[in-house]
Order: sequence, then structure tokens, then C-alpha cells
Amino acid sequence: MYRLLTPFDYFEPQSVREAVELLARFGHRARVIAGGTDLVISMKKRQLTPECLIALAGLEELRFIEFDPVAGLRLGPLCTHAEIARSPLVREHFGMLATACNEVGTPQVRNMGTIGGNLCKAGPSQDTPPPLVALEAKLRLLGPQGERVVPLDQFCTGPFCTVLSSDELVVEILIPPLPPGGAGCYKWFTKVTVTDETLAGAGVVVVRGPGDVCADVRIGLGSVAPMAIRARKAEALLRGNRPAPGLVWEAAERAAQEAEPRSRAAYRRHLVKVLVNEAITELWPLTADLPGGLG
Ligand SMILES: Cc1cc2nc3c(=O)[nH]c(=O)nc-3n(C[C@H](O)[C@H](O)[C@H](O)COP(=O)(O)OP(=O)(O)OC[C@H]3O[C@@H](n4cnc5c(N)ncnc54)[C@H](O)[C@@H]3O)c2cc1C
Repeated sequence: MYRLLTPFDYFEPQSVREAVELLARFGHRARVIAGGTDLVISMKKRQLTPECLIALAGLEELRFIEFDPVAGLRLGPLCTHAEIARSPLVREHFGMLATACNEVGTPQVRNMGTIGGNLCKAGPSQDTPPPLVALEAKLRLLGPQGERVVPLDQFCTGPFCTVLSSDELVVEILIPPLPPGGAGCYKWFTKVTVTDETLAGAGVVVVRGPGDVCADVRIGLGSVAPMAIRARKAEALLRGNRPAPGLVWEAAERAAQEAEPRSRAAYRRHLVKVLVNEAITELWPLTADLPGGLG
């Protein structure tokens, strides 16, 4: 049931440093707010009742999209889904992330909702974690004790839970470049309406190596486990082998077995099988004669 918000103090820090100081001062009583598309709903439902909100929206230092061929892509957590989806840099180097961001909710949600908020919400069916897990993204966290970098697949500890402590902020998302001969895509099962949660999502990266074998493959699955996961057993089946149709199907079946859906399990596993098979089948021909990675 939706109700009025409970009273809270509201802060607009002028720098990331000030935001971290406020978090250290208020601890568990505070929440940062980015786009607010998720937090405000949780507050209206009284799932969360923070005494103090720390608004990040004015912090331009958390809003950037930069690409370097050696370091890869650096994203500020305040980038909205719409900004990422239309960024020429993201579309050129990591098209699978642009696809996922373009899939989030409605235009209003994509214009307000941020990638930082999407990852920190840590819901099982968020759309950006499957491609980002397959791309081996890392998060840079900042707190009063300093910085640390955490691989995304170690960031979530369960549904809606992360390693982030109450006085830490996500200040950067780092995506390493794809190796030469690498290509990736994000596949998801269409929702009935745009506000429905994704039923199953798969972010897949395939790298063609010498001898026309699959030098590397990374499969990130979303909406089919408490958090986005890597289907590592399926990956192991393909790595070092030529992805003939029979082997790809076997790997897709293995990925489905690695999924742990909490509801509609048989159906979601079937979707994983279809999505992974489709992704690898489509990606493999694209990796032939690729000079560099195409995400
Ligand atoms: C109608 C509707 C449809 C939606 N559809 C989708 C969908 O299809 N796919 C999907 O993935 N999601 C969807 N969402 C969920 C949500 O909008 C997104 O997850 C969005 O990206 C959240 O970002 P935000 O900036 O609004 O986060 P906020 O609501 O501002 O924050 C969310 C959480 O993250 C924390 N947080 C935010 N930024 C940081 C930071 N830098 N450091 C530390 N903590 C931080 C906040 O404290 C809060 O706990 C939908 C939401 C709605 C309302």
C-alpha cells in the first residue's frame, strides 16, 4: 500500500567528499538518493524509512562516460540509463550495455534512473548486471576509510544486499576492454508490459582465438537466481572448443541447470537455454575477422 513519506532531513552535498562525510555522520539512518525511481517507491511502501536523504544529483563529478583502449570504459554512477543507451562510446565499444539500458522500464525511468542505483538496488531482476557481469565490470567504492575496488560478481551478497557499507558510495563503474576477437550481446525475454520485471536475461561475451576455437566465453544470467550469476560450468564446456551447434546447445542446457529461479523455475530455465543458445549462435560468426572487441 502506498502512503505519504515519513519525515526526513534532506541534504544536497556539494562534493563527493561531503557526501561521504554525511554518510559517516548518519550511518544506517541515512540513504543516498540518485534518480529516486526505486528508493522513493520503497519509502512510500514503508519498506525503507530513512531519517535523512543525501541527494547525489548535483554531483557532476559522478556523471561521466570515458573510454580508453587500454583501461576500457569508465562510467559515473549518476549516468542515467538513457544517457548510457545513447552514448556513442558505449554503443561502439559495449553495445550490449546500451541494449540493456535501453530495455529498462519506461522513458521516464530511463531518464531518471541511474546505473549506480540499478546496481546498488541489487534486485535479482535488474537488467544491467547480466551484461556487466559478463563484461567483468568492477565497482570503485569510496568511504571514510578510503577506496576499494570490487568485482561486480562479488558486489551482491543476496537479493537486495551488497557488500557496500552504510558509509560507502559507488563512485565509478569500470569495464575492461574486450580482447581482440571478442563480441557480446544482451538477450532477454520480453516482458508483457514495460513495467514488468525481466523473466530471464543473458549477457554473453564470446572470444574467438587461434585455430578458430572459443578462446573465452562469459555468460551472465539475470532474473534466474538471487543475484546475477556467471554460468561457469557452461562456459567451461565451450572454452577451448569450436562451438558447433550441438556443443552450444549442451552449454545452454548446462547454463539452465546452473540457474536457481525462485518462481516459474522450469519456464525460466527453458528461457535461459533459449537465450544462451541464441546469443552464442549469433555471436560466433560475428567474431570472425574481428580486429578488436565488439561488445
Ligand atoms: C516503473 C518502473 C520500471 C522499472 N523497470 C526496470 C527494468 O525494466 N529493469 C531494471 O533493471 N530496473 C527497473 N526499475 C528499477 C529502477 O528504476 C532502476 O533500478 C534504477 O536504475 C534505479 O536507479 P535510481 O537512480 O533511480 O536509484 P535510487 O532509487 O535513487 O536508489 C536505489 C538504491 O541505490 C542506492 N544508491 C543509488 N546510487 C548510489 C551510489 N552511487 N552509491 C551507493 N548507493 C547508491 C540508494 O541509496 C538506494 O538504496 C524500474 C522501476 C520502475 C519504477
